[in-house]
Amino acid sequence: MDDIEVLTIGAGGGGYPAAFRLAAAGRRVVMVDPKGVMSGNCLAEGCVPSKAVREVAHHLLQHRRFGKNGLHGEVLVDYAEVVAHKDQVQTRRYAQHDAELRAAPNVTLVTGTASIVDPHTVAVDTGEGARRFSARNIVIASGSDISVPPIPGIGLCLNSRDLYAHHPSLSTLPASMLVIGGGYVGLETASFFSAFGVQVTVFEREAQLLPGMDPDMVGLLAGLLDPNIDVILQAEVRRVERTPAGVRVVFFDGTAEQHRTAQVAFQALGRHPVIPAGLREIGVAVGAHGVQVDPTLQTTLRHIYACGDVNGKTPLFHAAVRQSLAAANNIMAGDHRADVVDFLSTPTTVFTLPAAAYVGLTRTSAAAQGVSIQEGAYSFAEDSRAQIFGETGGEIRLFFHPDSLRLLGGWVVGIDAGNLIGQIGLAVSRGLDAGGLAAFADQHPMSAEGISRAARSLF
Ligand code: ADP
Repeated sequence: MDDIEVLTIGAGGGGYPAAFRLAAAGRRVVMVDPKGVMSGNCLAEGCVPSKAVREVAHHLLQHRRFGKNGLHGEVLVDYAEVVAHKDQVQTRRYAQHDAELRAAPNVTLVTGTASIVDPHTVAVDTGEGARRFSARNIVIASGSDISVPPIPGIGLCLNSRDLYAHHPSLSTLPASMLVIGGGYVGLETASFFSAFGVQVTVFEREAQLLPGMDPDMVGLLAGLLDPNIDVILQAEVRRVERTPAGVRVVFFDGTAEQHRTAQVAFQALGRHPVIPAGLREIGVAVGAHGVQVDPTLQTTLRHIYACGDVNGKTPLFHAAVRQSLAAANNIMAGDHRADVVDFLSTPTTVFTLPAAAYVGLTRTSAAAQGVSIQEGAYSFAEDSRAQIFGETGGEIRLFFHPDSLRLLGGWVVGIDAGNLIGQIGLAVSRGLDAGGLAAFADQHPMSAEGISRAARSLF
C-alpha cells in the first residue's frame, strides 16, 4: 500500500490541473489513467483533433471564397494529408505533456484502471498486477465515453473515435455520409465533411438541430450552414443496415418509415459519464447526468471531488480544467469552501462552419427562469473584418439585466465566434455591465469591435 495525499482517477482535463497545482504546493500526488498519458479524451479523440480537421476545412472554404477575386485554381483535398496534419498535432501535444510531467515534482502517472475500495483506498489494475493507494483526497476525473444506444445495426456506424483518434480508422474520404444525431459532434462533423465535398445527410430526432441550445442562435446558424447538407429533423432512426455499396439508415418521420443510403454512416448520439467501479458503493451519490457535486466540486463525501465530464455539468475540456483547479484550491483549504465554480459562465462553442457560441443566459433561458433582459445586437454584415473575409452572415447578441445593465449572457454566430465568446464569457463571469463594455476601445478592424458596438446599441 502506497500512502499518498491526493489521487486523481483520470489524467485528463478534470484530473491533471488539480494534480499539478497540488504537487506544486508540495502534496504527494498520483494520477491514474489507463491511457498512460495526460490530457484525456480531448486530445485522444475530441476537441483538439477535430479542430485540426476543422481548420483545414475552414481554409478550404476561405480559399473558395477568395477564388472569385484573386486566388486561382481549385484546391483538391487529400484527406490522408488532413489526417496526417491532425496526427502530428496530437503527437506534438503528447510530447509537450510528457515533458511537463517529467518536469513536475511530487506527481506520478500510473498506467491502469482505478477502482474504489473504501473512502480512502483505491486499487489500480495496471495490467501487470494490482497496486493499492491510500489517499487523503480523491479527485474523480474519469470523463465520459461515447454512448451507443440499442439501435439495431448501430455497430455499422463510425463514431468520433474512428474519425479523430490518433491514426484513425477513417483515412480516406467517402463519397457520402449519413450522420445520425444533430448535436454538436454530429453537426460539426457534417460541416467539415461537406466542405471536403462529401454528400452529407443529418438525422435529428428533435424538431431543432442542436437540441437544448438557444433556438434563436440555432435558427440563425442553420440558415448559414452549407446548403448541400441535407438535414432531416424529427427523424427517429430505427435501424442501420448494410447494403452492397455501404449502409442504409431507416428512420420514422412521424408517419412512415423512410430510408437513405450512403457509403458510410457516422453516429454522434451523445456521451455518458464513466463512473469508476466501487464509487457508488462507498456512498457517493450519482445522478442521471453523473456524479453529484456542488460548486466546490465536492461530492456527497466531502474529501472526494468530481471534476469534468464525469459530473455532467458542462462536459467541455476548459470547464474541466477550471473545476479541477477549484477542487485543488478547496483541497488545499482542508476541504473547506475556498473556491466555487460558476457553472453557467463557461462558454460553449459549436465549431461548425460557421461556428456558433454562447455563454450564460440567453433570451430563451432567461424567459424560462422568469428573468427579464434587455438585448444588444451587432450584425456581422456591418463588420469590417467579416467583410474582409466575406463571412458577413451572423451576429453578436448580448443579454443584459434591464436595470443594472449587467451582462448576463450572450451568443455569437459567425466569424471568430469561438474567440469572441471568450471575451463575452469573461465579462459575464466578472460581472461587467453594458457601460463597461461600451467604454472599452475594442480593436479595429477585428470582430471583437462588435462586442462594444452591441453594448453601445443600448445607449
Ligand atoms: P475530463 O475532461 O472530464 O477530465 P477526459 O476525457 O479529458 O475527461 O479524461 C478522463 C480520463 O479518465 C481519460 O483519459 C480516461 O482514460 C480516464 N479514466 C476513465 N476511467 C478511469 C478509471 N477507472 N481509472 C483511471 N482512469 C480512468
